[in-house]
Amino acid sequence: MKEIILLKNGELALKGLNRRTFEDILIKNMKHRLSSLGKWTFTPSQSTIMAAPENEDVDFDEAINRISKVFGIAAFSRALEVPKDMAVILDTVGTYLEPELIGIRTFKVEAKRSDKKFPLKSPEICSAVGEKLLEQFPHLTVDVHDPDITVMVEIRDKFAYIHGTQLKGAGGMPSGSAGNAALLISGGIDSPVAGYMMAKRGLRLTAIHFASPPYTSERAEMKVHSLLRQVAKYSGIINLFVVPFTEIQEQILDNCPEDLFTIIMRRFMMKCAEIIAAERDCAALITGESVGQVASQTLYALACTDRAVDMPVFRPLIGMDKSEVIAISRKIEAFDISILPYEDCCTVFTPKHPRTHPKLEAVLKAEEALNAEELISKAVENKRLVIINP
Ligand code: ATP
Ligand code: MG
Repeated sequence: MKEIILLKNGELALKGLNRRTFEDILIKNMKHRLSSLGKWTFTPSQSTIMAAPENEDVDFDEAINRISKVFGIAAFSRALEVPKDMAVILDTVGTYLEPELIGIRTFKVEAKRSDKKFPLKSPEICSAVGEKLLEQFPHLTVDVHDPDITVMVEIRDKFAYIHGTQLKGAGGMPSGSAGNAALLISGGIDSPVAGYMMAKRGLRLTAIHFASPPYTSERAEMKVHSLLRQVAKYSGIINLFVVPFTEIQEQILDNCPEDLFTIIMRRFMMKCAEIIAAERDCAALITGESVGQVASQTLYALACTDRAVDMPVFRPLIGMDKSEVIAISRKIEAFDISILPYEDCCTVFTPKHPRTHPKLEAVLKAEEALNAEELISKAVENKRLVIINP
């Protein structure tokens, strides 16, 4: 007898004809996430997928932890695979679910029988299992309306499966099922959350980070690696491009009005990112901006930033409060990394009084003092690839 994971795929069910493709991507993503935990087989049937380890001594808790972060899964449970024999089922159900049953008061049993040849009908399975559990755990009572736990017995093709409470999956769509996008990632709180949110909608992430050595340190870049590792636990492997940004910032500082520094710098980031994104087959950019958070994120500044590129810019945090962003940041265990104090290229050069109401004409005029094309292509050319594994 071995344990398996029973998965319910969420929105996938809505995809009609594309369902197989989505399911294939989901299975591929799960295989990838579990690959260092031995070999697993995945068997789809109706709206569930069964994930079974080939080795019995697999680290099952770690597998459950990883699966709980894979997008495209609405709910899942760990289940015991047993022979389709009522005596065996009655013998094992109590022992298998004991850890869950001792801490609660009420339960009910549900049975599903896709094998109609099984000698007992669903209600008969339920009452036999219920009786057995009441006998084994005298502190329990049956509550069919609002039980603390629902004990499930599923009689399938080859085996029967016993499981307790279903756990909530990560939701969303399988990463990669909606195409590729490039995440502009800083060392802050917002951009990792933005990446997480868009990966949840099925986008495969490429990441771009602008570094300004010697003003920014290696530790600041390592912080970005750590943040992306947290995101990659959900999104899967991420290719990060680190782009040298020092020369661009120095040129802006020397040649442009100080109050436009931030907006011009952000436009240069977007332009560099758009080129890298196109090279990597990405169809959109993602940032962690939200209206009104800082001077560079007023409606007017965002409009100026937008005009730097043709590619759509996704800003999933646009209408969120900082506290809401922090809640997600904590959930994906990025927050404690984000608040480490290493300097970012934005903070190093931030002017005292940035323009909150920049006019595009003035910005374009100021940019004329720079050889933008040359600066951008040089920065992009000198990017460095770092592969971030979860
Ligand atoms: P974050 O918490 O993500 O740093 P923020 O609130 O500090 O965001 P800004 O510093 O103005 O805001 O940056 C806005 C967005 O610009 C970020 O969310 C990120 O997408 C992008 N960005 C900022 N700095 C960098 C950088 N060094 N490299 C890549 N992208 C950056
Ligand atoms: Mg920042």
